[in-house]
Amino acid sequence: MTAVRDRYLAEIGIPVWRLRAAAVAPEPAGLPAVASAAPVPVPVPTPAGPSGAMPADAVWADLAARVRACTLCGLHRGRTQTVFGVGKRDARLFVIGEAPGADEDRQGETFVGRARQLLNEMLRSIGLPRAEVYIANILKCRPPNNRDPEPSESATCTPYLEQQIELVQPRVLLAVGRIAAQWLLQTDTPIGRLRGRAVSYGARNTPLVVTYHPAYLLRSPLEKAKAWTDLCLVKDLLSQSS
Ligand code: URA
Repeated sequence: MTAVRDRYLAEIGIPVWRLRAAAVAPEPAGLPAVASAAPVPVPVPTPAGPSGAMPADAVWADLAARVRACTLCGLHRGRTQTVFGVGKRDARLFVIGEAPGADEDRQGETFVGRARQLLNEMLRSIGLPRAEVYIANILKCRPPNNRDPEPSESATCTPYLEQQIELVQPRVLLAVGRIAAQWLLQTDTPIGRLRGRAVSYGARNTPLVVTYHPAYLLRSPLEKAKAWTDLCLVKDLLSQSS
């Protein structure tokens, strides 16, 4: 197992001698709670109740159709297609990114290209192949010229993400990058101070861990060691919740 881990660490560019870095321990006496981002309500279907009104597959299909047809903010005018999200519908880990870029807009999938490759390696370094997690963004449409999302766009789109989280009911949330982390936690605290610990997110008090965006890590490889400690924390939280 150590050899496999060492290989993945080498692949994501972390020198093996750094493995001694201690994983950041979760907050001992319960996680500090944060409110969810306050979204503008969007009508979303409710999962099957005791009457069995709507099976989960139908709820997913309905939500995907709503996202595909969404014109609630101006971003729909510039999109090639929406980028809904991808992964296992009962994943234990839910990864939250920022917004589709040009490649994602063309291909209709979250995280493609080099950032995808690094994200995949980061996940595999804690024993989670991409197919085992769910990945979605705050925004389902690409902002023009890859600019940061406007708060109004994030607020309009977040109910879709909230519904995805509610359907998956992950054990742990991982926010990648400053934009996703600051929006979800409703703060402008720098990402360097948000990462390295878990906070409790939303009504289900799901532990949320923040780490650096893979695109940033590609530009700043020295930060990969910190991302590794964040991933170790995710792994610890997942093992505590099984
Ligand atoms: N960056 C993100 O945050 N999400 C994507 O899907 C692609 C790039």
